[in-house]
Amino acid sequence: MKRLACLAAFIAGVFAAAPDARAAIKVVTTTEDLAAIVREIAGDKVSVEALSRGYQDPHFVEAKPSFILKLHSADLLVLVGRELEMAWLPPLITQSRNAKIQPGSAGYLDASLNARILDIPTGQITRAMGDVHPQGNPHYWLEPGNGRRIAQAVQRKLSELDAANASTFASRYADFDRRLAEAEKRWLALVAPYKGLKIVTYHRSWPNFAEAFGLDVVGYVEPKPGIPPSPAHTLALIQEMKRQNIKLILVEPYFDLKTPEAIARDTGAKVLVMPPSVGGVQKVTTYFQLFDYDLNLLLSAIKETGAR
Ligand SMILES: [Zn+2]
Repeated sequence: MKRLACLAAFIAGVFAAAPDARAAIKVVTTTEDLAAIVREIAGDKVSVEALSRGYQDPHFVEAKPSFILKLHSADLLVLVGRELEMAWLPPLITQSRNAKIQPGSAGYLDASLNARILDIPTGQITRAMGDVHPQGNPHYWLEPGNGRRIAQAVQRKLSELDAANASTFASRYADFDRRLAEAEKRWLALVAPYKGLKIVTYHRSWPNFAEAFGLDVVGYVEPKPGIPPSPAHTLALIQEMKRQNIKLILVEPYFDLKTPEAIARDTGAKVLVMPPSVGGVQKVTTYFQLFDYDLNLLLSAIKETGAR
């Protein structure tokens, strides 16, 4: 009898636990940056998985069959938007056959809609302007203020989909907001002595970052976003770098270093491979660590080159 009671209690426990387990909503994000922000807001209340890795070019992620499976069972898809994932995500969403995450559905969250977007083209958009940024700059997560805006959109959406945990999401957002404000003070103090520092970057990944931290991006290794370097453009860039005495070339980890290194040899500049995403290097696993890592890398390079 005692054993039976034990068993009954065990079964009751399983059933009591089951609704909770089912209720944990599944979030899929396109990038590790978004997954990191979802974790800040949701803690262990939801499951979160990113499709791409932080060391991959987010414009051109190689889709795997596992992506479709993950999307198939997702309750919420969070994407960067502004066509960042245009080359790979839309067919996967269709193939997932998941009504919850189709564009316009409750489980489809375009994080850019709540963010501050730079480089929005005016006038007619043509492919001559470049391949990959027709809707404004999609690398907007590299500004702490936008991290806060993304987190707020995530908090609202999670509360809508999982009302039972709304108060947890609200208090975790408040905590994230507070920690981010503290970190921003620390980051700004680090870079304050170098305000207006002129740099060159490979891709237009850093306009939000540059604005947030007082850097001046004066040129790009790519002639236009998504267009590989050309000899004529490289030559013009070298002349401009010499004229303005530019000592730093920031390169995202997924680009070929051949042209940046040739430019560096000719100008006496330093190539700095800097990850624009969480997961870009193994030890950067949170949104905070991304800025800590990148700003420290930048400061070491500034000191090394004497760039001002
Ligand atoms: Zn881009």
